[in-house]
Amino acid sequence: MDKTIKLKALHEKWFKECVCELKKTATQPVPGVGNSNAQIVFIGEAPGKDEDKQGIPFIGRAGQFLNEMLESIKMNRESIYITNIVKYRPPNNRDPEQSEKDDCAPWLYEELNLINPKLIIFLGRHSMSDFFPELKISSAHGKLIHKKFKHINTEYFLPLYHPAAALYNGVLKSELIKDFKKIPLALKKIKTSQ
Ligand code: URA
Repeated sequence: MDKTIKLKALHEKWFKECVCELKKTATQPVPGVGNSNAQIVFIGEAPGKDEDKQGIPFIGRAGQFLNEMLESIKMNRESIYITNIVKYRPPNNRDPEQSEKDDCAPWLYEELNLINPKLIIFLGRHSMSDFFPELKISSAHGKLIHKKFKHINTEYFLPLYHPAAALYNGVLKSELIKDFKKIPLALKKIKTSQ
């Protein structure tokens, strides 16, 4: 079966099976979107107001900024895949709770293993700490990490500041723009090491 069809089936299965409490307050689920054969998967935290309304991740201001950064490295939303740790908007954009992240985790892992990207990019500390709770985003951002996990096949990770945080902080914004430019070289390094 084609990967795009498999991914659609996977989301439809989880629309029914996910037991996350956030389902009760969100308008709709916001599954990952993009290229099912992508070499890079971006993981954000949770859908916001615009995403909840449209059912598409990173569609608001942070998403527009992300699109500009992708263009700067000659990529676009069709060449990558983007998803969130939790697939439902937390009320008033509060941080998702651990139990909510745990409920959505098998959905995320199945999504990642189906796409099987060479590189996973964390957008912000929340998605990074789901995989690397010991790291601080202030020192880990922009540094490629190699680690084997039992539950996912991908072995390379790059933490970045969250584009929404960067929109309100000039220092974070310039760091994020600088880090983003490292993506093509990181991908090249990964490919030559495999
Ligand atoms: N912020 C996120 O982390 N995810 C989205 O989908 C939108 C904003």
